[in-house]
Amino acid sequence: MKGLAMKRIGEIGWIEKEAPKCGPLDAIVAPLAVAPCSSDVHTVWEGALGDRHDMILGHEAVGEVVEVGSMVKDFKPGDRVIVPAITPDWLSIEAQDGFAQHSGGMLSGWKFSNFKDGVFGELFHVNEADANLAILPDSIPVAEASMIADMVPTGFQAAELADVKLGDTVCCIGIGPVGLMAVAGANHMGASHILAVGSRKDCANAARGYGATDIINYKNGDIVEQVLDKTDGKGVDKVCIAGGDVNTMQEAIKMVKPGGIIGNVNYLGKGEFVTIPRIEWGCGMSNKFIHCGLMTGGRLRMEKLASLVEVGKLDLSPLLTHRFKGFDKIEEALLLMKDKPSDLIKPVVTI
Ligand code: NDP
Ligand code: ZN
Repeated sequence: MKGLAMKRIGEIGWIEKEAPKCGPLDAIVAPLAVAPCSSDVHTVWEGALGDRHDMILGHEAVGEVVEVGSMVKDFKPGDRVIVPAITPDWLSIEAQDGFAQHSGGMLSGWKFSNFKDGVFGELFHVNEADANLAILPDSIPVAEASMIADMVPTGFQAAELADVKLGDTVCCIGIGPVGLMAVAGANHMGASHILAVGSRKDCANAARGYGATDIINYKNGDIVEQVLDKTDGKGVDKVCIAGGDVNTMQEAIKMVKPGGIIGNVNYLGKGEFVTIPRIEWGCGMSNKFIHCGLMTGGRLRMEKLASLVEVGKLDLSPLLTHRFKGFDKIEEALLLMKDKPSDLIKPVVTI
């Protein structure tokens, strides 16, 4: 079968591979819609995970089941499914401990395009199908549904990690597709003021649509000063981080109030250390909390998020600025993600 692969750090290309084999608990799925991710860009062009050779990329997909293992109970060939980017081993000790996404070791629930071939192949393998697949509701188009695989759960998780509460003032740093879903998540969880940080006009407009009350452009000066200006010097209750670099945590610490919580889902592709400013961290006594996380995978999470889309409480179409048709277009879509033109939020390829 054919797939778009990372050949080595800095190089992608189409390769031929043997089709994946189905274990008793597993499924083999053919993609119906896939989306490239900023994480694919970190992986290939920043070598963030280390070198990988001829590994098929991609971890955001909806698809059609073509084969299931003998012990799979709830899925059958022909089912249309949402496939979460993170597919944990649900029988692991880490899953029992509440962090299934780290089953098998830190970040190891992230299997696609990390430890095994991803979803940019003509077929792909899903472990523990009953726990890791979700039925795609008929009312959600496949392109929109592909956003439920990673963008929605990751962005919402930023708001959950920050423990946004009714009436909170929240700063969302980064308003690419993940940050926009952090804005939407914070809005759903009851935030009052949502200060969204980005520089691109189209992202800012989408952020307003998802509930941002103020837009802050990090290219127009220090974002901490801008946030303090807009909050009468008080700072914010919560911060969601879905963009920036190793220095962004310092800004978050400076702008959050004592007792505040920072929820980080940003994937730091470069840099050795994340530093914390001593004074603004109350010399270690500020009661400012940092929570960080890999997306939670699993069927239940996918079904719950899909239900928000089904009932019309979450519109994913504003994320999809660039739509492609045909398997061969995956390469163009991925390169677009790397180049990030100013009008891009998210490309999607329907097969
Ligand atoms: P994008 O690159 O599309 O968005 C990044 C956002 O950050 C943009 O709004 C950008 O602004 C903004 N930004 C860039 N530099 C700065 C800065 N110095 N200060 C403040 N804001 C800045 O990324 P995605 O939305 O696709 O993904 C966000 C992150 O989430 C990525 O690192 C990705 O790998 C990670 N991720 C993590 C997952 C997890 O499980 N934890 C899962 C999936 C993704 P603009 O472009 O407007 O200038
Ligand atoms: Zn992703």
